This record gives sequence, structure tokens and C-alpha cells, in this order.
Amino acid sequence: MDSPKLKNQLFINNEYIPPKSGHFLTLRNPRDDSILSEQIPIAGKEDVDNAVVVAQTAFKTTWGRLPGVERAKVLLKFADILEENIPLLARLEMLAMGQPIGVAMELAKLGPPVFRYYAGYCDKIYGQMLPEDGNGEYSLVQYQPMGVCAGIAAWNATMIFFAHKVAPALAAGNTFIFKPSEKSPLASLALGDLIKSAGFPPGTINIITGGGETGALLASHMNIRKISFTGSSAAGRKVQQAATASNLKSVTLELGGKSPSIIFDDADMENAVHHSSASFLLNSGQVCVAASRLLVHRKIAESFMDQLKARFEELAGAMGDPESPESYLGPLADRAQTERVLGYFEQARKDGVRFMTGGCKHERGGNYIQPTIMVDGSPDSVTWTEEIFGPALSIRIFDTEDEAIQLANDTSYGLSACVYTSDIARALRVTSLIEAGNIAVNSNYLPGHTVPFGGWKESGNGSREAGLAGLKSFMETKSVLINMKVGPRL
Ligand code: NAD
Repeated sequence: MDSPKLKNQLFINNEYIPPKSGHFLTLRNPRDDSILSEQIPIAGKEDVDNAVVVAQTAFKTTWGRLPGVERAKVLLKFADILEENIPLLARLEMLAMGQPIGVAMELAKLGPPVFRYYAGYCDKIYGQMLPEDGNGEYSLVQYQPMGVCAGIAAWNATMIFFAHKVAPALAAGNTFIFKPSEKSPLASLALGDLIKSAGFPPGTINIITGGGETGALLASHMNIRKISFTGSSAAGRKVQQAATASNLKSVTLELGGKSPSIIFDDADMENAVHHSSASFLLNSGQVCVAASRLLVHRKIAESFMDQLKARFEELAGAMGDPESPESYLGPLADRAQTERVLGYFEQARKDGVRFMTGGCKHERGGNYIQPTIMVDGSPDSVTWTEEIFGPALSIRIFDTEDEAIQLANDTSYGLSACVYTSDIARALRVTSLIEAGNIAVNSNYLPGHTVPFGGWKESGNGSREAGLAGLKSFMETKSVLINMKVGPRL
């Protein structure tokens, strides 16, 4: 595919328009730090206000008034258009954040099914009617859209975040403002043309770009009713605070993790090695659910770690140019992320952590980091407790099931976990005791769109994306009492 022309305008009210702020970001190619664009618009207050006004109008006059069956038609058409444009969207993701093209294609394919899934709900948002209880009063419970909703995303899988936020919100009848990360804005900006050709009324989906300041304008806006945030726990806290301090808007937080993976001695070793290496290193470890704390039973520890080390070193050879279909691993998203990860390695050395492999830049230089395994870190060392968000795994050895569960739960995060065992009773026992929102048995955890997704503890705030829970998180509940007897009730 030829290099696509990059969009350099905001998409508001079905039109590409320059930012009223007059400000732009520079975006670099993480492969070699060359400049991709110096014209990524930064939406300022006037731009955000403009997006909110047109989204309110669409909510009150067009999209918000459409019957469910009509909303479904547009969502289905959009899913088809997204699917036709997977190569374009994948290429733009690859350029901006260095995701190898093969990986970017697979991730972009996950978007259209989400729109199809939620299109199915559009005309099935049933309420309830309760039986008359003898006092002449009938009760109805209705589920209704909230109004203007907004989404703020991390950089590592933008098209999935877009789908998981926008599809349920629109299916419920809301209108939307989406802000991708400043590290990966290109595919989102390209969506404007696709949104328009799907037939969404102007103002239904608006795409704005910018950094944390733009996100903060959304979080604190008085006329946005709901915000769905995917990103770090630190920024998530700020979003929650801004939402509370402004109009108490509803908030969904999808935050960071330091997920455990427990390998019992009865596990299928090859399967556990595969998922702890190739699956873990997907997207160079820049995956929220990546199980970056590995707990292995003492009986198999030596052999497991030898095999894992060999696999990590083999995969270092599959690190390459993101444009090449042969590359499985690419660079990290940008220089700031690279420096952050290298900073963790430096701290690990000071803390006496041992590197079994990696722990430095890859020979390709730039933002390429070696797949890394760390061992012998104390339970309070920063590389054991903090999210690194890169190709870095930490390992500890355990002796008993109770000890493994205690170590797994000894974290402020609770996003996901993996359990490897051939004993189904143990799998059920252990999964029930782990404090996390998403657990996989005998594989890594891959979020899907049909079951609720979200974290416990500091990985979330109790709200969920995906599945029916994801749809409900974009709706208000209304109880209506109809009195058949006129007159005083008490
Ligand atoms: P980040 O928190 O730095 O940024 C995320 C988004 O928030 C960006 O769009 C950014 O512009 C915006 N932002 C930053 N400060 C803000 C503020 N004060 N108010 C409003 N918006 C603000 O996160 P990141 O570095 O882009 O992404 C990595 C993090 O995201 C990791 O912690 C990772 O685990 C997490 N993540 C979580 C999930 C999940 O579903 N739980 C998925 C992917 C990534």
C-alpha cells in the first residue's frame, strides 16, 4: 500500500476542520524517530465546546431520535466500511506507534465485529413493567441514553478502544466525542471519511486530537454526561477527579495492570512457555492485560525458565521493521516510553534484580528494547510492583498453592491473571480466589467484546466495557410510577 495522506484536521459535525486553538503536535515514527507529521491538531476549549454543541444537537434532533432498528442499519454499514479499510487503519497504527503490520492487521480486524454485536442490541433495549400491587400503581423501568458521551484512549490498541467505547454508546442512542492518544492519532483521524460515508448524521461521532490537556477539557466539561477512559491509573484518577469536580458525570476507568501468571507443576509446559513468551510479548509487551509477574512452581522452575529464556532470545530475532510482515516485535511507541522502560531496568540493577536475558536496547537501537526476563527481585522492588508496559517479565518461584495466590494478589492492581494447570478443580479454586476482573486458564487473557471487561482494585472503578454491561454503562435507568387512583397516597 502507498503511504496514505495523513489527516491534519479535527473531525467535527461530519466535517474536517482546522483546530480553532491554532496549535499542533509533532508525531514521530518510533522506528527511527523521523517526523511523520508536525500538523496533528490539538483541540482546545473552543474546539471541545464546538464538538459538544454539535453532539448535543445530534442527540436531540437526529441520532438520539432514531428508532433502534435505524441505528442498527447505520452501525452495520459502518462495520462493513471499517472492514474494507482494515489495511489503511492498520498501516496508520503501524506508522504512529510502531506496531508490526501483521499485528496491526489482526488488531484492526477486531473492531468491525464489535459494531455488529452492538447493532444487534439497538432494537432490544427492553424495559420492565411490574405487576399492579393492589394500590392502583403501575411501575415501569426504562433504560435510556445519557446524551453526549466521550472516550479517551491509550495508544496501544486504538481501534479496539474506539470500537469498545463508541459502538455501545451509539447503540444506546448517545452521541460521541472520541480522543485517541497523542501517540497514535492517525487511524482515528482517518475515521472521519468512513463515519460520513456510513451515513451517521452530523455530530453523531466526532474525533478530536490532542494530549492530556484536551482530555482534561472533556473530563471537566459540564455538558458531557459520561466519560469512558482507557489509560494509566495516574491519569484515570485525574479524570475521575475532574468528572466529580465538574458535573459528576458517569465515569468508566480501564486502567493499568501488573497481572500475575501462575504456572503449576502439572501445567502443559509447552503451552505455558508459548503464552509466557510469544503471547506475552505481543505488541512488545505494551498490552494492559500482559501477565508481567510470572509465578512458577519450584519443581518445574529451572526447566521452565531455561525454555522461556531460549524462547525470549529467539523472539528477539523476530524484532524488526514494523513495515515487514516478517516482524513479530517492533519498537516501543516513542522515545518517552523507551526511556521509561530503560529507567526501570536501571532501577532494577540498583535493587539487585538479576537479568536472565535482555535488560537493554536491542541492537537495532532507537526505540527497540530487548525482550527481558528479570528474576530474584524482592516483592517490594519497583520492577515487581509497578507496571513497566514493555517487553519485560519478572519471575518469582513458589512452593504452595496458597503462597502463589498470596503473591498473585499482593498488588494494588487487579486487571487480569492467568492460571496454568491440568487440574480443573485447582483452576476453579484458584480463579475464584484471585482478585482480578479477567482471568484466563491455560492461555494469556485476550479481551473479547461479548463478556464484560474491566479491572478490580486500582485497575478500574467497577464499571465495565464490553458485553451487555458495556451497553448498560452508557444508559440511565428511569422508574416511572403510573397512579390509576387519583388522590393522596399516604
Ligand atoms: P496515559 O494515561 O498517559 O494516557 C491515556 C490517555 O489519557 C491519552 O489519550 C492521554 O492524552 C489522556 N490523558 C492524559 N492525562 C489526562 C488527564 N489529566 N485528563 C484526561 N486525559 C488525560 O496512558 P498511556 O501511556 O497512553 O497508556 C498506557 C496505560 O494505559 C497503561 O497503564 C496501560 O495498562 C493502560 N491501558 C489500560 C487498558 C485497559 O483496558 N485496562 C488498555 C490499554 C492500556
